Amino acid sequence: MKISSAEFVISNSEVSKCPAERIPEYAFIGRSNVGKSSLINMLTGRKSLAKTSATPGKTQLINHFKINNNWFLVDLPGYGYARVSKKTKQKFQKFITNYFEQREQLICAFVLVDIRHDAQKIDLEFINYLGETEVPFCIVFTKADKIGSSKVEQHIKAYQDSLYANNWEEMPPYFVTSSSKGIGKDEVLEYIDAINQD
Ligand code: GDP
Repeated sequence: MKISSAEFVISNSEVSKCPAERIPEYAFIGRSNVGKSSLINMLTGRKSLAKTSATPGKTQLINHFKINNNWFLVDLPGYGYARVSKKTKQKFQKFITNYFEQREQLICAFVLVDIRHDAQKIDLEFINYLGETEVPFCIVFTKADKIGSSKVEQHIKAYQDSLYANNWEEMPPYFVTSSSKGIGKDEVLEYIDAINQD
């Protein structure tokens, strides 16, 4: 898929205020600093469509972008901030879980994980939450340029084993990406395109 237009539509923290338009929607989520903004900018070919973590404000909201006038790319807040106390705040803020539980247009969530690290507890909890909520999802391994290509398979296999240990029976669709090297862009966009054509 070639991206000919990518426009920011709205930011908010209430699923009821997300755009009413019923077009397919794909959401991107992951731990803060995982490379989500960089990935969105790579996918859309826009240098600063998604604001990087360094930009306060926007990263704590649900951000809708309309792509090619026929689907929404949704940039969701990063989760897993160390400073968020479990006692005072739920692990995944209510407006995020409301989004996943109520947004009927959502076709698939892309869960970003840093390919360098072992599966993190919070990511596994989030993936398990998506499973319980029956939200289709893919895993996007980010920053693949940071490990040697020979290590990529090994890291994916380790991730798969962690999912199996969490009672998953199979590996979900996954993508290996590097925003700095432009790796994985076509694969992710083709995947979205194929669903949109169905
Ligand atoms: P976000 O918080 O998930 O939106 O993450 P950002 O996109 O802001 O990226 C966090 C940091 O990781 C920044 O310093 C990026 O330059 C760096 N980064 C993001 N993607 C890649 C990548 O594919 N390769 C490398 N080497 N660095 C990356």
